[in-house]
Parts: sequence; structure tokens; C-alpha cells
Amino acid sequence: NSLSERDQQVNWHPYTQMQTAPPPIGIVRGEGAVLYSEDGKEYIDAVSSWWVNIHGHAHPHIAERVSQQLHTLEHVIFAGFTHAPAVELSERLLKLLPANQSRVFYTDNGSTAVEVALKMALQFWFNQGINKTKIIAFEGSYHGDTFGAMSVSERSVFTRPFQQYLFDVAFLPVPVPDQEEAVLAQLEKLLAQEDIAAFVFEPLVLGTAGMVMYSPEIMDKLLALCRERNVVIIADEVMTGFGRTGKRFACDYLNQEPDLMCFSKGITGGTMALGVTTCSHQIYASFLSEDKTKALFHGHSYTANPIACAAALASLDLVEAAEFQENLTCISSSHSAFVKSLVGKPGIKEIRQTGTILAVEFEVDQTSYFHTLRDDLYNLALDNGVLLRPLGNIVYVLPPYCITSAQLNQVYGVIEKMRLFVAE
Ligand code: PMP
Repeated sequence: NSLSERDQQVNWHPYTQMQTAPPPIGIVRGEGAVLYSEDGKEYIDAVSSWWVNIHGHAHPHIAERVSQQLHTLEHVIFAGFTHAPAVELSERLLKLLPANQSRVFYTDNGSTAVEVALKMALQFWFNQGINKTKIIAFEGSYHGDTFGAMSVSERSVFTRPFQQYLFDVAFLPVPVPDQEEAVLAQLEKLLAQEDIAAFVFEPLVLGTAGMVMYSPEIMDKLLALCRERNVVIIADEVMTGFGRTGKRFACDYLNQEPDLMCFSKGITGGTMALGVTTCSHQIYASFLSEDKTKALFHGHSYTANPIACAAALASLDLVEAAEFQENLTCISSSHSAFVKSLVGKPGIKEIRQTGTILAVEFEVDQTSYFHTLRDDLYNLALDNGVLLRPLGNIVYVLPPYCITSAQLNQVYGVIEKMRLFVAE
């Protein structure tokens, strides 16, 4: 039996139930931007497998470094012990981050990187005997699937069964271009009315909300208000980190420095599961005390796994190489040219772009059709050899940075076919 058939007897996939989902496609190999299936088909991975494989699949430099590490030290408890990959990775990462970032805490996925940041922010106040517990997040944001991360996410289908267990969060509208002043005023009012502990946000682009974008200038204004009112600032760079927005980090577009930052996904280039929370000295210092109960009581068995750290180091080599920025610029300008070519065409409602992130929102008015549209678009892409994951009527492209211009044109060709399909 095929992988796909065997899978359907035993596996439970995210967001799908087998009764309604199409059978999963068995993938046997990946190389560069391409995935190869067990039935001999090829798919361009235009979403970098959930925005993870920033350097494409099976990058030889990462494979080599990981395999060396595997033969040297595969794991060691990170309480009371340390190792070269974790020390080197933290040193190198901190050099690339805003100057105020001074400590690195390791977890193993994006949700827990956020979970840790929330705990650090809340305990920062608790340790000082200050009663601040409420958090601000953006409407429609997604920060992960653990309970804290779910609390600050506003995705009702994800959180509905658990609502009573989630903590109190004030949701602020996203400051999209025509809403900037209104959102600023709303934040000002909120900060005047309540003592807010922290503000957690996806910088520049809200991914799971459908690649909703806003400007760095307005974010700087919102963050300046937070600074004035002593609100801990948490930047969730799980999606945007490591080049996605055209710069190394989305926060490189901002003048305000976050207190806490969260990373995962692209950090190892898709080789190993790793999450990272970094913080300023001020946050770290509030946990240092003769009083042991002020410590952060949080740790995972796989914290700072040496193989994951080695994969991240190899990925960082590629991030720091000269062609990295060239590739980002090349993809960003291809996207811009494609955006220009779509403006005003039938079937297009809105097109958004920030760096290597492109989102095309199709115009659809019949609500009955809307429900089947997502699957139709998904299948149309697969039939044309491209993996895209539409969100309703929104299709986004977040390619691996090694994608060739021929492959990128194939992806645009599929979007053009989608447009014709919708416009018909
Ligand atoms: N934060 C953001 C901004 C994300 O996009 C995601 C994942 N889509 C997460 C957190 C959660 O990461 P993970 O899936 O690794 O738990």
C-alpha cells in the first residue's frame, strides 16, 4: 500500500479530519524548492512548508553540519550543563538582533517561544510585586496553539472549545493604512484606562490572519506609546524572522526595540524543531535574586538540543552569506513586478506584498461558492505542480529563498490561472 493509504489508517493531521480532507500526498524526497511525491509527481513548495524551509529542502551545508553534530553530541540536559552549539548560536544570534537583546532561552517550536515570552513578561511584573496582568494583542493575530499563545490569538475556530480557560486579553484592530490614526487613538485610550502588562504583536505582517500588512511607522508610534506606559513589548518573529520581510528581521524596519522576541520556523531552515525567546537585560535581571522562587520555572526536555542548535548555526551561515540578501531582493522585486501586472485585473480584490511575502485576495461574492473555493484553488495549484495553501479567497506565496526565477514564474502562472478561474 502507498504511504498515503497507510497514513489514512494511523495519522491525525493538523486542521483536518479524514472524512472530509483529501488523502495526504506521500512525499519521498525534497531538494531545493521542489518536493517529490511517491507517485512520481513534483511540486514547487511555494509556501516553504508552512514558512519553515527558508533555504529550500535538504540543503547540503545544513545536512553536513547536522551530521557532524549527530556524531559528536546529540543531546545533553540543559539544566546545569551547556555545549558549544548553544553558546555559539546565542552569541551569533544576539549580534544580529536589536542591541538591547541580551539573553537567549531555548524551546522547541513557535508556540512555546511565545508561551515563554508571555510567562517572562507576566513574571517580570510579578517578581517586582506589581499587579499588571492584562495583555494586548492584535485582532485576528495568531501566536500558536498552547493555552497562553491561544489566549493572545484571535482565531475563533482554533480557540472556541477552550474559551473559558483562556486569559483576559484586549484585542486592538490592526493598523492597516486607512485605520492608523483610529488604532493609535484606541491604544492611547486603552493605556489610559488600564494597567497593561504586555503587548504581543506580529511585526509588519499578520500571517494566519491572511497576510494582513501594516507599516513600520505606525508600529513605531504604537510602541512608543507602550514605552511611555511601561508596557512590555513582545515581537513575535516566528514567521517574519530570517529574511521573510526582505530584511533579516521585521524588527530591523522598526526604531523601537522590543523587550522580548520570539523565533522558530526559519531558524533551522526546516531541519530541526527549535524555538527561541530572547530578552533584554532588564527582563532577565528581574529574575535574578537570592529568592529562588523568582526564577523562571519553565524548561523542556529538548531545550537547546545540540543538533537543532547546529542546524540553526548552519542556517545562520547561509543567512549571513552575501547571496542571501541578493536572493531576498530578487524575490521581492519579482513579486513587485507581478503585483503591478495584476492591478485592476478582473477577479482581483487586493494584492499585498512585504519583501518575499505576497498575498493575492480574489474577488468573490457568492457566499455558497466561497466555501468550496479554498479547496478548488488548492487543487488547481497541485494539478499545476505547485504547493500553495489558500486561506479562503486569499492565496499567499512565501517561497524558499533558493527558488529560481523559472520556478517563481511557474507559481505566478498558477495564480494567473486561479484569477481566470475566479473571474469566469
Ligand atoms: N507565531 C506566529 C506568528 C506563527 O505564524 C506561528 C505558526 N504559524 C506560531 C507563532 C506558532 O508556531 P508553531 O507552529 O511552531 O508552534
